[in-house]
Amino acid sequence: MQQLIAANWKMNRTAKEAVSFIKKFKKLVKGVKDAEIVICPPFTIVELVSKELKNSNIKLGAQNMYFENAGAYTGEVSPIMLKEIGCEYVILGHSERREFFNEDNSLINKKVISALKNGLKPILCVGETFEQRTQGKTDDVLEDQLINCLKDVKEIKDVVIAYEPVWAISRGNPNQKAATKADAEESHLFIRKILEGVFGKESAISTRIIYGGSMKPENAKELLAMPNIDGGLVGNASLEPKSFAEVVKSIK
Ligand code: PEP
Repeated sequence: MQQLIAANWKMNRTAKEAVSFIKKFKKLVKGVKDAEIVICPPFTIVELVSKELKNSNIKLGAQNMYFENAGAYTGEVSPIMLKEIGCEYVILGHSERREFFNEDNSLINKKVISALKNGLKPILCVGETFEQRTQGKTDDVLEDQLINCLKDVKEIKDVVIAYEPVWAISRGNPNQKAATKADAEESHLFIRKILEGVFGKESAISTRIIYGGSMKPENAKELLAMPNIDGGLVGNASLEPKSFAEVVKSIK
C-alpha cells in the first residue's frame, strides 16, 4: 500500500511563508512517487496553497471542518467549501481539538460521516494521554475512540487512522521524543485488530494507519519501516521544506 506522509502545519505560516515553503519543497520532492504527500495548512491559506500545488505530486488537506454543509455556524467551515478549493483530505479529532476545543468522539463521528459523504478523506486522529498510558489504559482509550468515532461508517477504505500518542506530540519542541518504534508498532497492530473486528480483515489490512508525534528526519526511517506503520502525520518537522522532504524520503 502507498504510504501517506501528511504535514499538519497547525496555526503556523502566513501566505508569504507558505509560498516560499512550497517553491522549495516542490523541488525537493519532485520525482517522489512512492509516497502520497499531503499538506494541511491553516484555513486562511488553503486556497492559496491549493493553487501553488497545482500540477505537482503534493495533495491538499485541511485541519478541521464542521459537519454541516452550510448554515448559521459562525466561524466554521464546511466540507463542501473544502472540496471546492481542492482539498482531498481533512484531519479530524486531533488531540489539540479534543483538548482545547472540547471535541468529543460523538462530534468527531459526525464530522467523519460528513467528510465521507462529501468526498473528503478523513485523517482520524486517536491516541492516549500520558496519564492514560501510565494507568495502563492505552488500549481501552484507542478502542473507545475508534469504535465511537467510526460509528455508522460503512466503508473504511477512504479513512486514514493517525495514531498520535498525545505525550509524544512536540507542541513545537524539537527535542520531544517520539514513541519508540516498538511501542508505536504495538499500538498500530492493536488498532488494526480493532478495525478488523469492525470492518473485516481485508478492509483492516488495506487501511492506512499512520504515526504522528515528533516524527522527524532523525527517527522517520525506523518508524516508517515497521510493518504496521503506513505513513506519518508530521507537525513541527513539516514546517521547514528540508526536514519535511527528508521525512518524505524516509518511506520504506
Ligand atoms: C501533530 O500534532 O499532529 C504532530 C504530529 O505534531 P508533531 O510532529 O509536532 O509532534
